[in-house]
Amino acid sequence: MTESAPVPHQLPARVLGLAQLGLIVIDADMHIVMWNQWMASRSGKSSHRVLGQDLFDLYGELRGQRLEQAVLSAMQSNLPQTLSPALNPSPFPLYPAGSWGGERVEQAVSVTPFNEGKERFCLIEVSDISAIVGRERQLRSQAEALRAQSYVDGLTGIANRRHFDVALDRELRRAQRNDGQLSLLLMDIDSFKAYNDHFGHQQGDACLTLVAEAFASMLQRPADLAARYGGEEFAAVLPDTSCEQAAQHAEAIRAKIASLNITHAPAATRPHVTMSIGVATFDKDQLNEGAAMLAAADSCLYAAKKAGRDCVIVYRHQQENAA
Ligand code: GH3
Ligand code: MG
Ligand code: MG
Repeated sequence: MTESAPVPHQLPARVLGLAQLGLIVIDADMHIVMWNQWMASRSGKSSHRVLGQDLFDLYGELRGQRLEQAVLSAMQSNLPQTLSPALNPSPFPLYPAGSWGGERVEQAVSVTPFNEGKERFCLIEVSDISAIVGRERQLRSQAEALRAQSYVDGLTGIANRRHFDVALDRELRRAQRNDGQLSLLLMDIDSFKAYNDHFGHQQGDACLTLVAEAFASMLQRPADLAARYGGEEFAAVLPDTSCEQAAQHAEAIRAKIASLNITHAPAATRPHVTMSIGVATFDKDQLNEGAAMLAAADSCLYAAKKAGRDCVIVYRHQQENAA
């Protein structure tokens, strides 16, 4: 066995000076007995200025706060404590080394009690987590931006309103160019407020997902789009689909939802969950804009509600109405 080199007696002090975190030791009276270089360079207070001082006199703002409670509790119970950075992001007024003022560094703080002879002490470790917190914040805001750009509804997994708007606009222009056909379905779950009130919001969400999946499975052509339009409202863009074909599709979707046999709330108009549907079809003279088609489908949906719900109403053009 080789003999290890003797440890120079100044080594612990040197290591304390190099440590990349704040190290404070206080005694049972809260007096500071150790304060390393990291603390000095971020607090602007050198160790000989603070040694012997009461930590909570030095930083009056810490009195009555979570850190003081953690220290007291650690001293009493002899158990280590950790401060949640989410609740206490910057307990000490510490600033990046060399920059006076500005924003405090964000800190993770832990408190570890220990005994030396008959005396009890507390080691307080302070790490700078500003970089980690900043990166987390950046990732969160990037995720939010991505969600905002997304075309998928977060709850049901089908297309969202944004995707619907883009698809309707694109298909309208195509229909105008090619003098083609295009239909739109707007649908709304009947008495859904009663469902939520009776079964709770979580089960309401599960019901919305079931309905969305069943509705989307009814649209077979690749160009068809099933979307969640809003809360408990859904919409479909059906390119190359005449008014009669759209009415048939709508009726098949209505029947499919009713056949799911999802038990409804006692206060609902039907014992099972149902949907009302309004249908509008592109017409180059009258319904040649997205807003006009939506308004027409919406007026039919409203009429379907008035007619007792669980039914389909189709928008008829004026010449047809007159005929
Ligand atoms: P109607 O037959 O006339 O459509 O009656 P309704 O109760 O369905 O209509 P209303 O518009 O008054 O209520 C819609 C309800 O849908 C309100 C809200 O409680 C519920 N809702 C909307 N979005 C969501 C959602 O994302 N999740 C859940 N669980 N419920 C939702
Ligand atoms: Mg509604
Ligand atoms: Mg509704």
